[in-house]
Amino acid sequence: MQLPAATAAVLYDLDGTLVDHDHAARAGVDAWCRTLGMPDGQWDRWSDIERRWFTRFENGEISHMGQRVGRCREFLGRPELGEAEALDLYEFYLAVYRENWRAFPDARPSLDSALAAGLKVGILTNGAQVMQQAKMESTGLWREGMVMCATVEIGAPKPQPEAYLGALERLGVTAEETVMIGDSWVNDVAGAQKVGMTAIHLAREGNAADSIGSLDEIVWG
Ligand SMILES: [Mg+2]
Repeated sequence: MQLPAATAAVLYDLDGTLVDHDHAARAGVDAWCRTLGMPDGQWDRWSDIERRWFTRFENGEISHMGQRVGRCREFLGRPELGEAEALDLYEFYLAVYRENWRAFPDARPSLDSALAAGLKVGILTNGAQVMQQAKMESTGLWREGMVMCATVEIGAPKPQPEAYLGALERLGVTAEETVMIGDSWVNDVAGAQKVGMTAIHLAREGNAADSIGSLDEIVWG
């Protein structure tokens, strides 16, 4: 894969790119269903609910907390749940979700090679800072010198331009010298290109012509 000669920084997406979000989320929802006495095998329904509510957050329609509350109410079929009660119940899911974080095998070598090549390395994620930092650390991916760019704290999620511009500011680089890598075409490719970055789409399943199937395919430096 050919990268611009002037590449000075790389921004990695986190969920689905460095850490196996789906594996952890599936474990979380299975355990949650057992705790609540609900039938198991509800991963597809949860996944669909998560995608719809998270997209509403990414479109600026609701807050990050709001999408958690909305997901919980819809999944449990209890629209009357108060916010605090919904977030309380959601904690059952989150606890098991956290226990099941695991890095993709190509994540650490890729981050290490980018750092070894002298690139600035940032994590640009639509998650919240505290959780995403813990996720990087507990999976052994966090390295001294990396910059966490969580869009909940930046104030605008990907694919809004402010998300990428906020990350560039934190890294102290320009869009033209930055490469963004991630598994979402909308958030990690189209949005990044729109502000002038080079973008690489990671498609871990299937092999689309304009995507890479593994982070191993990128050689830094
Ligand atoms: Mg992702």
